[in-house]
Amino acid sequence: MDDAPAPAAPEAVDPDCLFCLIVSGEIPADIVRETDRTIAFRDISPQAPTHVLVVPRRHYRDLAAVVNFDPALAGVIAQEAVAVARAQGLDDGYRIVVNTGAEAGQTVFHVHAHVLGGRSFAWPPG
Ligand code: AMP
Ligand code: ZN
Repeated sequence: MDDAPAPAAPEAVDPDCLFCLIVSGEIPADIVRETDRTIAFRDISPQAPTHVLVVPRRHYRDLAAVVNFDPALAGVIAQEAVAVARAQGLDDGYRIVVNTGAEAGQTVFHVHAHVLGGRSFAWPPG
């Protein structure tokens, strides 16, 4: 038996986190959809004609933390990302990206899914 205590779940809100401040309404954002567990808002620096971020209301630093502490929330984020793509009319295809860690390009450490569409995308990504 491993008696080590389970790691404590992170706090629900990080007062220094940009996306927590958007969730609380202290920083404005162009919100396109809201659910009880998520909000979706336009990226301030869009990389495609449609570029929306899907963010859980609760603070987790990245997708690995979500999978560790609340794996069902990973499905909720994916479900909402697809709902955003449909609502935005991205019928010809779209890309969902979850940068995880600095080397992958993550710059805001509150997990978020990018929903990108409205143009063709290259592969492999840069
Ligand atoms: P990532 O690099 O994957 O962590 O993505 C962070 C994203 O947040 C970038 O695409 C930024 O353009 C975007 N971003 C940063 N500040 C804001 C803001 N105030 N409102 C909306 N999007 C933002
Ligand atoms: Zn946060």
